[in-house]
Amino acid sequence: MKQIWIARDYSKCSGCRRCEIACSLKHEGEIWPEASRIRIFMLIPGIEVPHLCVQCPDYPCVEACPTNALSINKETSAVEVDKEKCIACGKCIDACPGKIPHMHPTKKHIIICNLCNGDPECVKVCQEGRWNALWTAPRPSGSLLSIKLYARTPQEITKDLARNIYGEEFEKEVK
Ligand code: SF4
Ligand code: SF4
Repeated sequence: MKQIWIARDYSKCSGCRRCEIACSLKHEGEIWPEASRIRIFMLIPGIEVPHLCVQCPDYPCVEACPTNALSINKETSAVEVDKEKCIACGKCIDACPGKIPHMHPTKKHIIICNLCNGDPECVKVCQEGRWNALWTAPRPSGSLLSIKLYARTPQEITKDLARNIYGEEFEKEVK
């Protein structure tokens, strides 16, 4: 299996949230956006940010986990969560430059995108909707920076987009 990456183009995201629905259906068996591994943030109107794990080459979340609840799937390069071992301490969230792992809304364990074992549902529905905001690509290799540019908080990403689209005044609107 090729190591894949979910590429994203923020400018093409319509905010339809089909990806959140597909992800929660796949992983939770019901439509439950709060439990989706991908989340769409709209911090200022018109700027939608699909937010999900980027599979950092140095995996700071895995390094930070005190109970070895996180591991790297060698085939897909995704971070896998062992729910039984997770003690919900949040250290992986602190370690993640994009604060991407998040707590399951009702259970005491973290959730992180696992690439649906190499066939991501979020990409399928985004492509079906012809938005093309998400697509699968070979995982970038080599430079840490090429991937880590995407491992930022929704606030940081939104500020950059707002500055580019609307100018510096709008950047200040992002809290
Ligand atoms: S983006 Fe965050 S959750 Fe994903 S590998 Fe990097 S540190 Fe871990
Ligand atoms: S790849 Fe799967 S787990 Fe990851 S965001 Fe997409 S739907 Fe969710």
